[in-house]
Amino acid sequence: MTTTPDRFQGTSHFPLLADPATYRACHWDLCVEHEMRRYWLGLFRSHIGKLTDAAVEEAIDRGVNAADMRGRADLARRDFETYLDIITDAPDRFGALDILEICIHRERALRKGGITDPYRLVKSRENEVALAVLPRLLSELDAVHDRERASRLAEGVFAGNIFDLGATQTADLFKDASVDFHAVRGKLKPRPWLIDELDAFAHRLNAAPRHKAACLFVDNAGSDVILGMIPLARELLRRGTHVILTANITPTLNDITHDELTAVIQRIAAWEPVIASALKEGRLELIDSGNGLPLIDLTRISGKLAQAVVSRGVDLVVIEGMGRAVESNLHAGFSCDVMKIAMIKDHGVADALGGKLYDLVLKFS
Ligand code: MG
Repeated sequence: MTTTPDRFQGTSHFPLLADPATYRACHWDLCVEHEMRRYWLGLFRSHIGKLTDAAVEEAIDRGVNAADMRGRADLARRDFETYLDIITDAPDRFGALDILEICIHRERALRKGGITDPYRLVKSRENEVALAVLPRLLSELDAVHDRERASRLAEGVFAGNIFDLGATQTADLFKDASVDFHAVRGKLKPRPWLIDELDAFAHRLNAAPRHKAACLFVDNAGSDVILGMIPLARELLRRGTHVILTANITPTLNDITHDELTAVIQRIAAWEPVIASALKEGRLELIDSGNGLPLIDLTRISGKLAQAVVSRGVDLVVIEGMGRAVESNLHAGFSCDVMKIAMIKDHGVADALGGKLYDLVLKFS
């Protein structure tokens, strides 16, 4: 993989933005929203230590000298803390300030310490756990009536999305063990959800004509992509929709990368006929988004993805996960159908939406 160490975004616009001129990835202006800024700076400050600790563990697993790695992790942590100190005193010091900007600075600080993929080990563990559950889950979904399937798929996306090491509320859940997908799904909050446009999505999914092509922005590794988004992609493929799965090009937190997703899909294709034939026939494509952040600025995606969205005639966009669908892009308008879907795992995000922790969001328009 070749990316310059300091670039975490692509250079193209997502072609289906309704109005690129007025589009803003993040609606929360942290120069203006003082209370919100205090909250987010506190959260980033309390989280960086977890991230650098994971980075040390990851490096030791690769045979890197532990003392050397601890030194570099400290350097990265201090570098990021210095940045946080600066914007605490002068929020507009580097221009506009939003969560996306802070994420860019965090990645830069980590790279300075030579840290690229702190959660490699836990992502890999969670991928194995989820892959083992997938056959049973797909059989269950196949036994559900078409009318019910959209709601079962949405519940799967919500339940999978609990694997989030960027949110302090859920990061500790996965520290030493996995979380049981079926147990989480069984305990989801009942409808109506905080934002609940499932009926409109289900109606459109079952209506004719079917969507021509869908572009699915996936979020985390493990249960999130494997037990949430891949079953949704498979359902769209079964209905004759061309599917583009797009993941980050470089690692950030526990987001799945394009390379990791490619390996996961190949393993599933070895035994699952819908994915296998779609892959073979080119109806399922994997294209990196050009992004390397947990949020996404849709004016900064890869040229490859922008091109494919146009050439395939994408008429359904799915943006998944709290970072991409709520902290960024919740209010973004598109010129085609769009579903934004996530579980809320952070008090600040819940407060901003007038909701509570573990509330569920499914926005369809
Ligand atoms: Mg994520």
